[in-house]
Amino acid sequence: MKVLVINCGSSSLKYQLIDSQTEQVLAKGLCERIGIDGRLTHKPTGKDKVEKDLAMPDHTAAVGFVLDALTDPVCGVVASLKEIGAVGHRIVHGGEKFNKSVVITEDVIKDIESVSGLAPLHNPANLIGIRSCQKLMPGVPMVAVFDTAFHQTMPKQAYLYGIPHEFYEKYGIRRYGFHGTSHSYVSQVGAQLVGKPYNEAKIIVAHLGNGSSICAVKNGKSVDTSMGLTPLDGLPMGTRSGSLDPTIISYIAEKEHVSLEEVMTILNKKSGMAGMSGVGSDFRDLDAAASAGNTLADEALEVFSYNVAKFIGAYQVAVGGADAICFTAGVGENDVKVRARICKYLEGIGVKIDYDVNAVTRGTQTKISTDDSICAVWVVPTNEELAIARETVALV
Ligand code: AMP
Repeated sequence: MKVLVINCGSSSLKYQLIDSQTEQVLAKGLCERIGIDGRLTHKPTGKDKVEKDLAMPDHTAAVGFVLDALTDPVCGVVASLKEIGAVGHRIVHGGEKFNKSVVITEDVIKDIESVSGLAPLHNPANLIGIRSCQKLMPGVPMVAVFDTAFHQTMPKQAYLYGIPHEFYEKYGIRRYGFHGTSHSYVSQVGAQLVGKPYNEAKIIVAHLGNGSSICAVKNGKSVDTSMGLTPLDGLPMGTRSGSLDPTIISYIAEKEHVSLEEVMTILNKKSGMAGMSGVGSDFRDLDAAASAGNTLADEALEVFSYNVAKFIGAYQVAVGGADAICFTAGVGENDVKVRARICKYLEGIGVKIDYDVNAVTRGTQTKISTDDSICAVWVVPTNEELAIARETVALV
């Protein structure tokens, strides 16, 4: 079956068409600037990339262009839309309603709407993506795959915050965690790599990208993760602050004479690596700046690396001694310098890597630990789209 995987943002839409038998990507692409003007980048496997400025007043128009591109006689990869057997939609927040992927029905859409308050920037956009696909592909089964679902196995001691219990009961304020599709996919690969059945393996996944989170996976279940009610919690990220003393929020508001909303914008968009360094959020730029002697960039990278190591140390407790630590996502797979910085901190707890192997490992599945390390350390490329396609096929 051919599965269309859709990841819909407020003004963008990423897609991949995957053949579920061969697990090959047939085409992938991106619609940007939806609602502003519109641009499609379409890359069919084995053919030239197509880039076009197209008027995309809304997401339905964008989906229309995606379907046109997929069936185009020149840049297309299928003869007709009938070849697409299912659509898998990435949904950011499933609250406590969804602990696994589901086939999309009107009731499911209502339930996703009911938890949208927890992800006001993401869930409404995800729902628009579903509606647009339903309009243009009537009758094609669709599946919702949630970023939060994998973490619904966390025990209470991991997901409750130290606030009055009534806020959990009234508003669902708790740790939910994100990047679940990636953590689930990478931890399964990690279990295979250490030669253990998934339900007996203890894996720590460090998903380090523009957004970053760490996950403790014990016996095939997420038992703790660093992101919380929202993806702002945990590690400092590209532009997000990560965890901080909550008093800082009111203190900045008071000192800078800005509203609560403005402080939240600072913490979401102007903090993290970009805010600490003044250089930007891209780790390649940060590495280059640090190498050129920029002290703030160097400090930001050290703050990031130290915090990643601290979470890994904490999650050694959560899993009870990991079989493997897996680095994944843009930074985790490619940034050899940041991995080295993180692993330096882990030496104190017996985690040892071969720095020469680490230095040449970019984007390929590779063991970077030495034989005398307390646990294996692997670089494992993530593949969220493939994971979504697999879930979709399993359900339809
Ligand atoms: P992601 O969110 O997983 O797409 O990751 C994006 C981040 O990965 C960006 O900050 C990139 O700078 C970083 N990244 C990608 N490739 C490299 C690389 N070769 N070296 C360092 N960082 C990289």
